[in-house]
Amino acid sequence: MRNALTVDVEEYFHPAEVATFVDPGRWGALPPRVEPATMRVLELLDRHRTHGTFFILGWVAERHPRLVRQILAAGHEIGCHSYAHHLVYQLTPEEFRADTERAVAAIADACGVRPAIYRAPSYSIVRRSFWALETLVELGFTHDSSVVPIVHDRYGIPGTDRHAHVIQTPAGPILEIPVATVELAPGRVAPVGGGGYLRLMPYRYTAAGVRRVNQGERRPACVYLHPWELDVHQPRLARGWLARLRTYTGLRGMHRKLDRLLTDFQFARLTDVYPFDPAPKPGISGEELASGGAVYSLASS
Ligand SMILES: [Zn+2]
Repeated sequence: MRNALTVDVEEYFHPAEVATFVDPGRWGALPPRVEPATMRVLELLDRHRTHGTFFILGWVAERHPRLVRQILAAGHEIGCHSYAHHLVYQLTPEEFRADTERAVAAIADACGVRPAIYRAPSYSIVRRSFWALETLVELGFTHDSSVVPIVHDRYGIPGTDRHAHVIQTPAGPILEIPVATVELAPGRVAPVGGGGYLRLMPYRYTAAGVRRVNQGERRPACVYLHPWELDVHQPRLARGWLARLRTYTGLRGMHRKLDRLLTDFQFARLTDVYPFDPAPKPGISGEELASGGAVYSLASS
């Protein structure tokens, strides 16, 4: 079973837990660390002969175009992680469109590839920002990985499909790929898709979760991480115990855990695991191509 490995390429001052304490006007003055941190991820993937999908922040693509080209040249897939890491539910539809267009242009300028896969900052496509999917389809996106079917203080739409599913928007279909979760009991869903959970919990938590999805449900799992999660020496800019716990706990063990995860499981690019053609040949619907995923309508959500 091949799982999807995804990396959100951003600086250590971009995650929502840290961004609260850093004025965006200061971003350009802070020492950049995204290149060496991403290189560590690339080296690890190279050692395991594994390819993944890298969601690039447009702001990073503008400043580090060589890094984006290196990621692409190493055989990985390029996705879009917005331009300025604004939470989608804090933007108007016009602001979201402008941010996404700017990101797509920055990424295309950096590497020559126009991204068609999107992941929102902090998974911020929630019920009140669900309109964003229609904008993504209009801008040429075929895949999105921004909706998490859990309860969380900052994101999530509890009760939505835990596996890849086609969402019908007025502009056309898009394939939604939630990060991996397990259903502990009916209605009780826990995230296992990497990132903070891989960092904060013992390795066996993530491993057991991915195994349960692969073997128990016969479905692939979508796992994510950030380059800064392997950067032990990053400046500690987050304030408050919860933000610091979520951001800086487990940095030291992350490389080793990721190494184990890549040893114990098979990973590939998102579109290798979840191929989807939104404009298929006559007679085959996009839904059928999405390997049996459930179909949701934007209008009814
Ligand atoms: Zn992010």
